Amino acid sequence: MSPRQRLLVLAALLLALLGLTTPAQAGESGAAAAPNFKAPYPCGQQWTYSHHSAEVRRALDFIRSDGGSTAGTPTLASAAGTAYRYYQAGGAGNYIVIDHGSGWKTYYFHLASFSVANGAGVAQGQEIGITGSTGNSSGAHIHYEQLLNGVGQDIRINGSPLAYPGSYHQYYLTSDNCGGGSSNFRTWGSDVAVRADAYLSSPLVTRLGGPTAVYVECQKQGDTVNAEGYSNNWWSKLRDQGGFVSNIYIDHPDAKLPGVPDC
Ligand SMILES: [Zn+2]
Repeated sequence: MSPRQRLLVLAALLLALLGLTTPAQAGESGAAAAPNFKAPYPCGQQWTYSHHSAEVRRALDFIRSDGGSTAGTPTLASAAGTAYRYYQAGGAGNYIVIDHGSGWKTYYFHLASFSVANGAGVAQGQEIGITGSTGNSSGAHIHYEQLLNGVGQDIRINGSPLAYPGSYHQYYLTSDNCGGGSSNFRTWGSDVAVRADAYLSSPLVTRLGGPTAVYVECQKQGDTVNAEGYSNNWWSKLRDQGGFVSNIYIDHPDAKLPGVPDC
């Protein structure tokens, strides 16, 4: 190829590249797209929401309206991100901030307890805490906010803006936040027993043939298991298998797993 031919090829390549990149650049020039936020409470549950006039930011308070108790219900990540734990005695109480990237964050106030470690990566629909009434709160509710670059935004769920009523029981929202996170730990070993409860005498539910990605919902103490040079009486409840496995077979060095609530 002559230098002139090489130049022509280069020019053609450059033009092709420009043609390809122009539409993508145009798409990115606007504000960063918001994550597809979902309701901060479990799949299928109906809650009602209101906006307290005393609150300056664009928050909404949520309580259950399907007959279930608001207190004690899991609070869920409305989108995937990194969760950070905080405490503010006279205000938000125990609260979590999830950083979703691109300047987007969500806040969850007044939690009774935390379900994830500080700095944990969370999936959309993963339990991050238990709904409560800590801090400045007159009753169990989820105080929820969506912020872009530190500024509260009008809350959108599945892309649709919610109303800001002055009291509960005017508007309702049924959660379709059904992800739950696909897994948070892995097992190791082969033919690992999953039992109906945290005891060696508990009925066998299933066996895990080899290393398996699992979702540990909670953990509790049961029979002490001695295996592979380890001794441990903590057991993990596996959401998808519907039973308990000795923590010896969870691939984590701690006897009691971090960021997992007690059952
Ligand atoms: Zn509030």
